Amino acid sequence: MSGFVSFVGAGPGDIGLITEKGIRRLKSADVVLYDRLANPRLLRFTKPDCRLVYCGKLPDRHVMRQDMINRALTDFALQGLQVVRLKGGDPSVFGRVGEEAKALKEAGIEYEIVPGVTASVAAASYAGIPVTHRDYSTSFTVRTGHYCSNSTGKINESVKNADTIAYYMGIKNLPAHCDQLIKDGLPSTTKIAVVEWATTGKQRTVEGSLETINEKVISNKIQNPAMVIIGDVVSMRKELAWYEKKPLLGKRLLIAKASPSESEIERYFLDSGAEAYAFPTLTMKKTKLSNEDVEHITGSGRLIFTAPESIDIVMESLLEAGFDVRDLPRWIGCLSEKTLQALRLKGIIGHKLQKTEANSVVVGPESQQFNVTFSTHRIVRDQRFKELEERLLAEEKWETVVFPNRSSVDWFTQEADAAGLPLSLLKFAYIGNQVKAYAEEKGFQEIDEEIQREIESWKTNRSKVVSAG
Ligand code: SAH
Repeated sequence: MSGFVSFVGAGPGDIGLITEKGIRRLKSADVVLYDRLANPRLLRFTKPDCRLVYCGKLPDRHVMRQDMINRALTDFALQGLQVVRLKGGDPSVFGRVGEEAKALKEAGIEYEIVPGVTASVAAASYAGIPVTHRDYSTSFTVRTGHYCSNSTGKINESVKNADTIAYYMGIKNLPAHCDQLIKDGLPSTTKIAVVEWATTGKQRTVEGSLETINEKVISNKIQNPAMVIIGDVVSMRKELAWYEKKPLLGKRLLIAKASPSESEIERYFLDSGAEAYAFPTLTMKKTKLSNEDVEHITGSGRLIFTAPESIDIVMESLLEAGFDVRDLPRWIGCLSEKTLQALRLKGIIGHKLQKTEANSVVVGPESQQFNVTFSTHRIVRDQRFKELEERLLAEEKWETVVFPNRSSVDWFTQEADAAGLPLSLLKFAYIGNQVKAYAEEKGFQEIDEEIQREIESWKTNRSKVVSAG
């Protein structure tokens, strides 16, 4: 039995810029080999038992060599696995898909190429630069700033009819490219923009001319990944820039997590332009409920769910034991808005309580906070993300942590501390006064007022949406 390899374009950074097909492939993959520039948040789409293999710089600073990657792809596929090779941007644009697909072809392995949004087009759009324009530019050229191994070392392509030029990997040799373009006949006043970490919360753009840009890149410490865009279309940016107007652009935020479900708060802050990351990535180990457990639940008068995930697990066990939703107790309670909504999706109107009650059957994850009658699952750190998150925590200057609930404070302090993040440097924001007090008890001192205000407005808007829907 032979497996299958999907080369999937992850898009330039913003997780919303991957294709729907790409997401489907991630969801069904047995193993994902991913690059440094593919957004790690996309790996959360994978099944809990999907293997994740990092192909960027390893801890010893060595890069997984191309022949090793080709071999790994072939080996996994020959084991009959569904393999995803996740690449930043589009796999075919300076993405080495040619070499990797050839190796598969030679080994007789089937593959497909799922395109992605390439960084040049994305960087231009997010910087407010249309790559073509009726008045300024009728063509668009993409180039690599690294010389091809078989070239003479000179860039001597004709610049005629190349009104807009994008250079990938163009930062290191930027002065040489600018000189050459001037020699090739472009006026030295030709406009140029350099966009660093385009489409992410870290996006920064500097502008100049072929003559002045290098100085600006140096004084602003612009580094890779960065896209160089050259041509008169750059002048449109003055009017059209939009992404860099986002209120929280550049803000580095960690969103503390206590459950495996998607973090709405992370989404909200990403949409507001912040570089937000929900940490740590958690997963659940389910506990099977026995038929007797199920009978106990159906026979009880009052049932309380302490977590939304428990509803599905109870429903599964119920159906397996030959019961259905109509056999649940008439009165069902829960402890959070999230669980209330999850119940609603099952057609159940729950009662939101402040705490559990003694005369009820309580179902939820194993926890120190609540005494549960039946535990449906255990929440554990998703070990597959550990190394990746250590790198992420170390590489960024995180400013603030958001605590949505008490247990997120515990998870965060334990795991961020273990990863070596200096917790005392972080400001914090919170949902609810109890959480605030608990965070202070754990040593967090300074509130990030700007983020706290955002949280308050997120809560208000959210409750409006909830009551309207
Ligand atoms: N296959 C990728 C390109 C890989 S080459 C694509 O289609 O986009 C890597 C180069 O892409 C980087 O050196 C940088 O020039 C560019 N790049 C990738 N992501 C970027 C981003 N978010 N912002 C700016 N440049 C980016």
